[in-house]
Amino acid sequence: MSGIETDYLVVGAGMAGLGFVDSLLDVSDADVVMVDRRPAPGGHWLDAYPFVRLHQPSPWYGVASTPLGDDSLETDGPEAGDYTRASGPEIQAYFGEVLRDRLLASGRVRFLPETDHLGDGRLCSLADGTETTVSVRRGVVDATYTASRTPETSPPPFQVADGVTVVTPAGLTTLPEPPEQVVVVGTGKTAMDTCGWLLDQGHPPERITWIRTRDAWLNNRHFLQPDRLAVRTVEGTVGFLEALATAETEDQVFEHLERVGVLLRIDPDVWPTVFRGPTISEHEVHQLRRIDDVVRLGRVLRVEPDRVVLEQGEIPTTPDTVHVHCAASGLPDAPPVPVFEPGRITVQYLSRLSMPLSSAVIARVEALDLPLAEKNRLCPANFVDGGPLGYLQMLLTGFATEGLWRSHPDLSGWFATTRVNATRDLPGAEPDPAREALYVRLLDALEPAYAGLARLTAEAGR
Ligand SMILES: Cc1cc2nc3c(=O)[nH]c(=O)nc-3n(C[C@H](O)[C@H](O)[C@H](O)COP(=O)(O)OP(=O)(O)OC[C@H]3O[C@@H](n4cnc5c(N)ncnc54)[C@H](O)[C@@H]3O)c2cc1C
Repeated sequence: MSGIETDYLVVGAGMAGLGFVDSLLDVSDADVVMVDRRPAPGGHWLDAYPFVRLHQPSPWYGVASTPLGDDSLETDGPEAGDYTRASGPEIQAYFGEVLRDRLLASGRVRFLPETDHLGDGRLCSLADGTETTVSVRRGVVDATYTASRTPETSPPPFQVADGVTVVTPAGLTTLPEPPEQVVVVGTGKTAMDTCGWLLDQGHPPERITWIRTRDAWLNNRHFLQPDRLAVRTVEGTVGFLEALATAETEDQVFEHLERVGVLLRIDPDVWPTVFRGPTISEHEVHQLRRIDDVVRLGRVLRVEPDRVVLEQGEIPTTPDTVHVHCAASGLPDAPPVPVFEPGRITVQYLSRLSMPLSSAVIARVEALDLPLAEKNRLCPANFVDGGPLGYLQMLLTGFATEGLWRSHPDLSGWFATTRVNATRDLPGAEPDPAREALYVRLLDALEPAYAGLARLTAEAGR
């Protein structure tokens, strides 16, 4: 590689990098070089397990300029009436098209695959080891800070003895024979997807052991629907706010949210202790409840041919049992840092745990002629901590940030209509009395909800 000059060096061509560049093209004349270690755009979606689907509906995922999917609703099956969700291959194809037809076609973006950013604009080609330094006029954009940790890229956080079969969810699908007995290790959505896939394949639930470190609260996908079904998202939001506005204790918040159906849990007899925002349907929860053999003995320390050793005990296993590693952390656990620093932008979550929305806003704010402090005021990095209130804190912080965008002259019009805003104004839509009524409740609950959350987090010592 010979020396390269550019306005922005964007490191990472996953959702964060693509979303940033896509929006930057709309609001500036900048020239961009994108680099990624992987051979193609799409980030973690490139090596996701084959049965993965977007956890949320397709219409508000992806880059702001380009729809993902055909805006259709499921017509049959357990999710009939909900928006469709793209599969892994569909998401990969979509990001490939975004790069080719939108970014490269602009004539202002160059993409260097299989290229490692070593820091300070230094690149190394993974194909031939050539190094070059990019001369960057405006800034280096770190679109790797929120990179997902998946089992495909993170080794198991436990020891694996010789003679033991431990596979990733993708590896599970390529075994020469269907396994007799399966032990799934993991608490998050990947473990849920894996158990669901095994059940869908006809694997008997009594031959699945599920090791869950903690039980989690889960978002009910019914209340995370965009566009024509956005009234449900508003209803879910009202649920969150009214729960926080009225509850006296943390437990009452979750009792309220479960009662109104906004949150789900897999085991009705176990009170969850974590909520990081996974999304699931009621049907999936009912399926997962068919698995009775749930082990709650803390983290797995090691898997041996005849036993799985956990923090608080052990369970028997066999050399023929297939153990599925679903124990990667998923969401990044890096602490929030300022999005805008001199010569550097770190793309992070701002609102609703939505990278499509967050990356697009960061690009639009970058293009505004504002001091760094003002840019950071419009884009405070947001974060979900591990406790039960973490997701709620993230949600309310994000609402406050969205309030800034709604009232900003350069952002409000775009924010009201962009496809990456689930509750956007749809062109030509008639006023919906049900939605208007919910907005009245939402406004009534807003201040008490912030006060309630502040009190509960103080009581919880966070
Ligand atoms: C199974 C699964 C389902 C999900 N479903 C949803 C969903 O429905 N909705 C939703 O909003 N979110 C979902 N997420 C969250 C998802 O992680 C984000 O939406 C988004 O894809 C994260 O994109 P990213 O660009 O931050 O990270 P990544 O996709 O991990 O991309 C980061 C990229 O940076 C590259 N990179 C890192 N370091 C370097 C370096 N030094 N040099 C060059 N390149 C580098 C990597 O190769 C990678 O391609 C899901 C996550 C998972 C794992």
